[in-house]
Amino acid sequence: MHVGRLCVMKVSLLSVKMMDERYDVVVVGGGPAGSVTARTAARHGLNVLLIERNQEIGVPVRCAEGVSKGVERFIRLDKRWICAEVKGANIYSPDGTKITLGGDKMEEVGYVLDRKQFDKALANDAAAAGADVRVKTEARGVITDAGHVKGVYARSMNGEERIYADIVVGADGVESKIGRWAGVCKPLRPPDICICAEYLMCDVDIEEYSEFFLGRGVAPKGYAWVFPKGHNCANVGVGISGDMSGDGHRAIDYLRAFVRDKFPEARALTEIYGAVPVCGPLVRSTASGLILVGDAARQVNPLTGGGILYAMHAAEIAGDVIAKAIQEGDTSAERLREYESRCRSEFGKRLETGLRAKEFFFRLSDEDLNILAHSLEGITLKELSTGALLLELIKRNPGRLVGLAKLIF
Ligand SMILES: Cc1cc2nc3c(=O)[nH]c(=O)nc-3n(C[C@H](O)[C@H](O)[C@H](O)COP(=O)(O)OP(=O)(O)OC[C@H]3O[C@@H](n4cnc5c(N)ncnc54)[C@H](O)[C@@H]3O)c2cc1C
Repeated sequence: MHVGRLCVMKVSLLSVKMMDERYDVVVVGGGPAGSVTARTAARHGLNVLLIERNQEIGVPVRCAEGVSKGVERFIRLDKRWICAEVKGANIYSPDGTKITLGGDKMEEVGYVLDRKQFDKALANDAAAAGADVRVKTEARGVITDAGHVKGVYARSMNGEERIYADIVVGADGVESKIGRWAGVCKPLRPPDICICAEYLMCDVDIEEYSEFFLGRGVAPKGYAWVFPKGHNCANVGVGISGDMSGDGHRAIDYLRAFVRDKFPEARALTEIYGAVPVCGPLVRSTASGLILVGDAARQVNPLTGGGILYAMHAAEIAGDVIAKAIQEGDTSAERLREYESRCRSEFGKRLETGLRAKEFFFRLSDEDLNILAHSLEGITLKELSTGALLLELIKRNPGRLVGLAKLIF
């Protein structure tokens, strides 16, 4: 390793005496993206280290925990991490018109997870596949050599260390610093993020449906949700566009108003805040020796804010590409581009449609949304995915939605 020529991103760390370690792959972040990448790479026989800055995988939860049944493609079903199974979704327009979507094809509708357990199960799978998993270990900078990422600086209870690897995976979530340190991406702008506040509430009277509430007064450029968690508990949250947030009208202010209106008797057991990248995926999510996965690569459906399954899907692709690149001895940016092109071809279209639909719907007034909802009133739409719902709306409102049709097709 050419330690003498290292380009140091965190200069202050140089003065500290450091331990050195070496792995084939170091994965930063123990969420779904990180654990599935680590699991996949380890299954290919690579020497993998997964580091998580928090003391416990899966904690704190910053999620409404809804996924479609497509999750079963990535992990064997286990009742320990399923809180509730939902039959479909109810969507309420600003005037309260209800549209019911049956079936389980819609994103974020199928299971409500217990992310504390789910994330641990994924990390456990990674460990079972042979990856080393280390909590309370935070990446503090990337090591580069002539523009090629060679590892990370990390801090743990053992002190500062350099962890060298053929490939670094930035799976460090929406606030990802790995991508920024490596010069792959810039910080998100307010309109690029959805700011969320959520309570876990008990004493909530709710059916086995996930509920979504639309309207400027409820959640400007966003929505409020109620996801059943079983035993009369629910995740109740509000997400609004970052550029709509300000003093007196933050996500938490909308959430308090929503809860006062809908669940005046219910009690909050947990209060969380978080953000979701809703700008569509990064065009470049790789560099020499580096791959970004999950929220770090902004692989979230901008319309729904759902990112768990995209993170896991991308992570499997990342693990495969990493294994091939290392076997071939070529970890250059050009070689790793296969990851970007496979992500684009396997789920890029859905994220693109989500982005366009989000931009279109954000421009609609409450009155427009009511009219669209009325066009579907009284009908239970079975087996509808989010994309199919859009198509149904376009079919029933060809004049009004000609703009959306043009954007999507
Ligand atoms: C309020 C809210 C509700 C949501 N609801 C849903 C939903 O219902 N369904 C859905 O599909 N998606 C939902 N999402 C989005 C979903 O949570 C994310 O898309 C998903 O968690 C992405 O997984 P990830 O592994 O990329 O990132 P994360 O799950 O965020 O994991 C990143 C991990 O990296 C760690 N980390 C960060 N920096 C470092 C560092 N320097 N060193 C070491 N570790 C580090 C973090 O501690 C964290 O554990 C929601 C998000 C929010 C905020």
